[in-house]
Amino acid sequence: MGTIKSFHQHSIQDKEAFWKEEADAVYWETPFTKVLDDSKLPFAKWFVGGRTNLCFNAIDRWLESRGDEAALIWVSTEVEQERTYTYRQLYQEVNAVAAMLRAQGVGQGDRVLIYMPMVPEAVFAMLACARLGAIHSVVFGGFASVNLAQRIDDAQPKVIVCADAGSRGGKVTPYKPLMDKALQLCEHPPGKVIVLNRGLFEFEPVAGRDLDYAALRAEHDGAEVPVTWVESSTPSYVLYTSGTTGKPKGVQRDTGGYAVALASSMKHIFNGKPGDTFLCTSDIGWVVGHSYIVYGPLIGGQATILFEGTPIRPDGGVLWSLVEKYKATTMFSAPTAIRVLKKQDPALLKKYDLSSLRALYMAGEPLDEPTAQWISDGLGKPIIDNYWQTETGWPILAAQPGVEEIRTKFGSPSFPVYGFDVRVLDEQTGQDLGPNQKGVVAIVPPLPPGAMSTIWGDDERFVSTYFSSIPGRQVYSTFDWGLYDEDGYWFILGRTDDVINVAGHRLGTREIEESINSHPAVAECAVVGIADQLKGQAAVAFAVLKDPRVLDLPGAALKLEGDVMKVVDEQLGAIARPARVRFVTALPKTRSGKVLRRAIVSICEGRDPGDLTTIEDPGTLDQIKDSL
Ligand code: AMP
Repeated sequence: MGTIKSFHQHSIQDKEAFWKEEADAVYWETPFTKVLDDSKLPFAKWFVGGRTNLCFNAIDRWLESRGDEAALIWVSTEVEQERTYTYRQLYQEVNAVAAMLRAQGVGQGDRVLIYMPMVPEAVFAMLACARLGAIHSVVFGGFASVNLAQRIDDAQPKVIVCADAGSRGGKVTPYKPLMDKALQLCEHPPGKVIVLNRGLFEFEPVAGRDLDYAALRAEHDGAEVPVTWVESSTPSYVLYTSGTTGKPKGVQRDTGGYAVALASSMKHIFNGKPGDTFLCTSDIGWVVGHSYIVYGPLIGGQATILFEGTPIRPDGGVLWSLVEKYKATTMFSAPTAIRVLKKQDPALLKKYDLSSLRALYMAGEPLDEPTAQWISDGLGKPIIDNYWQTETGWPILAAQPGVEEIRTKFGSPSFPVYGFDVRVLDEQTGQDLGPNQKGVVAIVPPLPPGAMSTIWGDDERFVSTYFSSIPGRQVYSTFDWGLYDEDGYWFILGRTDDVINVAGHRLGTREIEESINSHPAVAECAVVGIADQLKGQAAVAFAVLKDPRVLDLPGAALKLEGDVMKVVDEQLGAIARPARVRFVTALPKTRSGKVLRRAIVSICEGRDPGDLTTIEDPGTLDQIKDSL
């Protein structure tokens, strides 16, 4: 691993020289005067004084060389439509949307909240914000009104862009009514809501507030909006993510560092070049969608495929049919999607011409060995497991075929990526651990370009959440357990906190608990993540009722379980719905009142719960066992 290792070493030991060179992949309107300002760690500023723009780097820069080449390919198996936008057409659309946002008073530093399904207009809106120097905050379409309201109140957007509805697996999922409800719930509703009417769901626009996307688009047809050049550390977006508290964190990203990180990752990690075609099956509501559906491929001069649909509709060959049709060179997906495909006819893997495809990248959750083996055998292509987080914006651990071809090991996301000084630390002492010793995966600051710069509006929380959990050292905690083996291959071994990962979606158990607790019959509850064959983990809730006698009637438990699930659906969205809700009379707690989550998980997974000396009432664990 000579080259990856030396590349990494160079990036850590000589940060300024390393990143100065990488920054050449980005257009700077005004060159930066300093590569790194690390005078206020853990806060770091990259490419100080440099002025650039994400939209310019993603579109304008390619107009001359690639104006008539594909930039954005939209395929919807939900509404059976396909559209290809060349770089020039994308430029026109984005300018029109920038003009319509500008007409609503959106300018540099203003927030725009985007709540949309996988439609091109969502991408236009993101890029239009970047063009204006405005800050977008995309909220995943699977989230419901309470989630939305929290994010609206935190980001305080000037304008919201949403759609009437999305569609999933052929079923229409309304967005507009959830937005309306969220706006009733929140304290800082914006004045204007631009609604893309796809004709999927009938709604009554709110007079004076709701604006029609198509009408505005027509009004601003042909508009050209000059790029707003912003200083490198200017926030480009805020993306909310779940943690151990009920309040989601707004991960704030800069502009220049992000552009450089993505441009460099397109070369070194994805081994790509302008003219390639990228198929990423994530959603624009997640960080993978931000980085590798929208910004990364476009900044790299590639065509990006935006897919609205599921991997099994019309059949389990749909993703491979897209690879064939659009000659995708790089594919990025999540282990859950592949586990879903394992249940389909294996012949579908051989049905299409996949010769254009160089590799399949996978992230978001642990990639189990059998799944990796299955897809590797089926495709005959390299499978590149990469590990990262919303916070980091791009991979922390990955094979980097653009630097050096290596042999991968299934179950391992390979090696540290350049720029990340990543360590395994002892949870108690903060000491660095050696090979094959399990500890907390941590990153020594500064975080590299492209990683989060702070929590939106809360610098203090940025430091106290991420940089204060390892004794004696101010290092960034990923809150993942991990180790590296004697050959230097890393393994991720699960979360150290109460965050769970369902089908690659990161969920905070606290948020689900708060939602369940709002049900009038519930006194308290604990939500844990239990191993699940398909989704990696499934959320299971154990609830204590205010009056357990309500369960006395036949069928009452089943009905109440359904009611509780409905509350979660309505407040947080179906993605947060627990797979099971079980009723107990008390939760396993320590004598100081802390819920023993790890013990609950062990019991549910049929393992030994370990040291239970601090438990208040051992009988509570038997109840958990019996309730399943
Ligand atoms: P998110 O911020 O939603 O992308 O979730 C990040 C979390 O997902 C990480 O902290 C890990 O727990 C998990 N994760 C992401 N990628 C991987 C991977 N390749 N292997 C294991 N876990 C992963």
